[in-house]
Amino acid sequence: MASPSVLVRAAHYYPKNTHKIIGGHCTGRGMQYPLKWLANTFDNKRLAAFRECLSFTALFGPATIQWRLTIQTDGALLTLVVTPNNKLTMERENLMRYEAPTTTKQAATLLAQEPGVACILAGGTDLLVKMKMDMVEPDLVVDIKRIPAMQAISASAAGAKIGAAVSGATLNSHKALKKSWPGVVEAVNLIGSDQVQGRCTMVGNLCNASPAADSVPAMIAAGAKAIIVGKDKRRTVAVEKIVTGPGQTSLAKDEVIESITLPKRPAKSGDAYLRFTPRTEMDIAVVSAGVNLTLERGVIKTARVVLGAVAPTAVLVPAAAKAIVGSKLDEAALEKLAAACAAACNPIDDKRGTIEYRTKVAGVLAVRTAKIAFQRAGGSL
Ligand SMILES: Cc1cc2nc3c(=O)[nH]c(=O)nc-3n(C[C@H](O)[C@H](O)[C@H](O)COP(=O)(O)OP(=O)(O)OC[C@H]3O[C@@H](n4cnc5c(N)ncnc54)[C@H](O)[C@@H]3O)c2cc1C
Repeated sequence: MASPSVLVRAAHYYPKNTHKIIGGHCTGRGMQYPLKWLANTFDNKRLAAFRECLSFTALFGPATIQWRLTIQTDGALLTLVVTPNNKLTMERENLMRYEAPTTTKQAATLLAQEPGVACILAGGTDLLVKMKMDMVEPDLVVDIKRIPAMQAISASAAGAKIGAAVSGATLNSHKALKKSWPGVVEAVNLIGSDQVQGRCTMVGNLCNASPAADSVPAMIAAGAKAIIVGKDKRRTVAVEKIVTGPGQTSLAKDEVIESITLPKRPAKSGDAYLRFTPRTEMDIAVVSAGVNLTLERGVIKTARVVLGAVAPTAVLVPAAAKAIVGSKLDEAALEKLAAACAAACNPIDDKRGTIEYRTKVAGVLAVRTAKIAFQRAGGSL
């Protein structure tokens, strides 16, 4: 039998007994024994029986030959080698699990229960790229596309609700949304190519937390809110509170965004989003701007101005909104708007744009975006 210290090490090495054994074999004495045969020595095909494997292996050969036991579970590939002299080595290679729950609560529970790295999969246009580049190695991938609430777009007295798994292409074919929030829909539609549009989501764009994410400034300008579901509670949070830095969000481990809400539009409202890229397609913003405003008798009554790609997160610029509220977007107001936007910039300096360049373009782009939003609201310039 294996020595007590070997058993203790094995238990430490693989303390969980929740994973099912789905394959494996044992080699020794020049033979390979399939797991079906080995399984007779296991209690219930679960890794609580790992100790029995050790006993089994030790029974067969510690004195003279090397035994190698390979067990594939639904969570890991385990290799146990017992050499002569009862020397034990163990290797564990994690295998990625894939789950596709049908309710948001199930998704949150899966996230909460995973002791390793768990990732939510929406369209996968960021996640799968990162996995291929070994930037992230999930133990568990939770695909949210089979959750009906995440695929729905609905309207209520409070506004519109867009499920977190709704793709850019689906959003673009929604006439009512395009009419009420053209800036938001345009921003989502700038993401990638037609192929990317078929998969990408605005929530994935948000949670990937890139400072240059296209849909985020437009969502923040719109006053969008995220409905977040955790294992035990739901909460609603303004979109600008979700991203805390590049690649970082304020979501807890068990939290998933179920949907985004856009408020009901007052009459005479308009929004717009523009980005500046060196190429016309398939590029990320060097600077971007989202503006949302409402008019009263031709004068701007309320406004929200947001910049993207000029700071670690999208920046809501209240001073820029203040510069145009009360105006008919005359030259003086536009100059103040540009100055307020330039003052709010804290960009990086890289080959795609220097700090000075980004700061200058932010003002210019905000002015152009405000003009489009103003005209969409019925204002004339
Ligand atoms: C060729 C190409 C071109 C691109 N062009 C652009 C572009 O022009 N502009 C731009 O902004 N981006 C661009 N992207 C990036 C990407 O397409 C977008 O960020 C897209 O919106 C991500 O959405 P997704 O559904 O594919 O996210 P996924 O890859 O599924 O997820 C992204 C991240 O969000 C998390 N997540 C997803 N859904 C949820 C949820 N409901 N709750 C909590 N967390 C969640 C995931 O775990 C992951 O960390 C491009 C990507 C590619 C491959």
